[in-house]
Amino acid sequence: MSARGEIPNSDFRTQPIWWDETPPSREPPQELAARSDVVVVGGGFAGLSTALELARHGLAVTLLEAEAFGFNASGRNSGGVSFGIDLTKVARWHRRAGRAAPGIADLARGAADSVSYMETFIAKNTIDCDYHRRGRLSCAPTPRHYDELAARTDRLNKLFDAGAYMVSRADQHTEIGSESFYGAMVVPRSGQLDPARLLRGLLALCRQAGVRLHDGMAVSRVERKPGGFDVILADGKKITADTVVVAINAHAANLPSAGLAQRIVPVASHIIVTEPLPPATADALLPKRRTGADGRRLLAYFRRTPDGMRFLYGGRAAPFEVSPQESAAVLYRRMVKAFPQLDGTRIGHAWGCKVAFSFDGIPHVGGENGLYYIAGCNGNGVAMMNYLGYKVGRKIIEASKSICVFDQPVFPSPPFYDGRPWFLPVVAAAYGALDRFDSMRAGRR
Ligand SMILES: Cc1cc2nc3c(=O)[nH]c(=O)nc-3n(C[C@H](O)[C@H](O)[C@H](O)COP(=O)(O)OP(=O)(O)OC[C@H]3O[C@@H](n4cnc5c(N)ncnc54)[C@H](O)[C@@H]3O)c2cc1C
Repeated sequence: MSARGEIPNSDFRTQPIWWDETPPSREPPQELAARSDVVVVGGGFAGLSTALELARHGLAVTLLEAEAFGFNASGRNSGGVSFGIDLTKVARWHRRAGRAAPGIADLARGAADSVSYMETFIAKNTIDCDYHRRGRLSCAPTPRHYDELAARTDRLNKLFDAGAYMVSRADQHTEIGSESFYGAMVVPRSGQLDPARLLRGLLALCRQAGVRLHDGMAVSRVERKPGGFDVILADGKKITADTVVVAINAHAANLPSAGLAQRIVPVASHIIVTEPLPPATADALLPKRRTGADGRRLLAYFRRTPDGMRFLYGGRAAPFEVSPQESAAVLYRRMVKAFPQLDGTRIGHAWGCKVAFSFDGIPHVGGENGLYYIAGCNGNGVAMMNYLGYKVGRKIIEASKSICVFDQPVFPSPPFYDGRPWFLPVVAAAYGALDRFDSMRAGRR
């Protein structure tokens, strides 16, 4: 038996569980065309959705992905499908910056649209990705959090049509097998899927629509020239395009010429997955198989895997990228604190990847004169980045000035920030201290 909170095994796989069945994939090599109507840089959800919409409209589209398809966040996330926009953070940022916040109701509608878009897209294109609308639990780590969640429920239902309701601590065993929480809010309009299978489905649709798909092709520069752009690869090859879409999210620093690095804070997120659990244990942990989050500043999220047998637990184990062994050790301790019945359970998988935060808490799309971008998923992009990819496609097709509420005139770039997030350890330490203070006040260690 391991010491309390220590992983009992070190032979876990250091890659996403999704990759056991659906590993990142490479396309058959093909010559890079000399020109294309549109070049999309980045082959995650955002880039693939943009490329698909444009190709279905009849444009010649070339998509350039630096790695294999699915190697980064879109193939590594936990597969939660939710609104994922923190309206309180958005309002706070704008208040501090002395700016008028974009209409909160409009943002909420946009976020709700992203979930509807994703559900419709999966159904219409019959993508086999284990999508289920099982709902989401926002757990309250303290009584104060419970009161705050309860106070927000009506507003959430009005804004997002979320159908949210509260479950008290006395009843929470019907939702979650943990004594660490003081009740929870249930948001039924939320789902979960296997992200690698969604990505594989998108890739197949792109292929069918005639997108020229290239992996292992990192773009190092985009240069404007009369009537279009030269897109220059790391190996010196070049393709010319009328229009370029940059969809590299947390990797903004890879392409300084796109001007996104100063607007994006890349933050690492990590996940562990247990080995198969006894069915009764898995059922007791999350009886309704919802996704869940623990409501802390250093947020942890969890769900059961699509087969229902394993428990997935994720969070920010460290502000920067660390080895899967290091992140797994941190996450395991946190998991066992919240779910002591998992102490001693073997881990099957551990991995991590970067997500992209914007300073105002809003994902952004935009651009004009032929150069467009999608960036700033804020850790929540399964529905949102797919939706925004589609929206950017529509923006280009319709030559529209503003295609949705996330197409804001300002994409903040604070003067102190050059794309290197030196402040993350300080923020993480402060968040951790505040979380511990909250727990102490609530009477728990
Ligand atoms: C551990 C983890 C858990 C998460 N869980 C959830 C969740 O449960 N629900 C949710 O909604 N969201 C979740 N997310 C966030 C979600 O995965 C992302 O928001 C989403 O995948 C972003 O998609 P994207 O296409 O914008 O970026 P990416 O998937 O990162 O795609 C960008 C692509 O650009 C490529 N690229 C980078 N630089 C270049 C270059 N110079 N040239 C060419 N290509 C380049 C990269 O290789 C990458 O494939 C999670 C993320 C992580 C890391």
